[in-house]
Amino acid sequence: MKRKPKIISSDATVPKKHHWAMGLLVSMEDPQYKVKEDDKVTVIKDKYPKAQYHYLIIPKADIPSLWHIKKENEDLLIHMHCVAEDLTRQHKESEFLIGYHAVPSMQRLHLHVISTDFNSPCLKTKYHWNSFTTPFFLHSTDICNQLREKGELKKLKSEESAQHLSIPLKCHKCPTTPKNMPDLKRHLLAHFSGRNNLFDP
Ligand code: AMP
Ligand code: ZN
Repeated sequence: MKRKPKIISSDATVPKKHHWAMGLLVSMEDPQYKVKEDDKVTVIKDKYPKAQYHYLIIPKADIPSLWHIKKENEDLLIHMHCVAEDLTRQHKESEFLIGYHAVPSMQRLHLHVISTDFNSPCLKTKYHWNSFTTPFFLHSTDICNQLREKGELKKLKSEESAQHLSIPLKCHKCPTTPKNMPDLKRHLLAHFSGRNNLFDP
């Protein structure tokens, strides 16, 4: 029996809008997630926040990822950074990290703005942790400087990115090396529950 030929879309590499990897585009339009917008960007709450405060800043221009950024996008990256800093000023009691994952999982460029308490039930795996606390996390200031100075962004090798994600757990605030995620979470609570002098002499 003759098989029916498979119908392949004109560009099979581009996920459809209902594909999970396109979820940010859906959340950009959802009042439950949308925090604010201007003519260049939309700010949303991360659907699976990995800390008390976790926002994503997404450009309106259809830029798939950081690795599609060109010199002419420099002003946009600087603008995204300014919007991020503005958000952090709304939570003066918290410290924040502002940056990009070296290998993003979701479509459309997005800048993470995340508080460093990492106090969230959605922070579950070593990969989640390492994606924010190792060089897998590309700080926005470094990215903006690199684009200004070199005129382009240097992509991390994929083996290097994978290595960062799989290194043993280490606290981002002190030399402690927790055995596992529950151990890390207990340790983080001690840092962020008013016992900030935990490791002071
Ligand atoms: P990454 O692509 O690794 O830089 O991170 C993607 C981020 O998007 C993660 O922090 C996810 O928790 C978050 N996320 C995944 N799906 C959605 C969604 N539909 N709406 C909002 N945030 C999402
Ligand atoms: Zn610590």
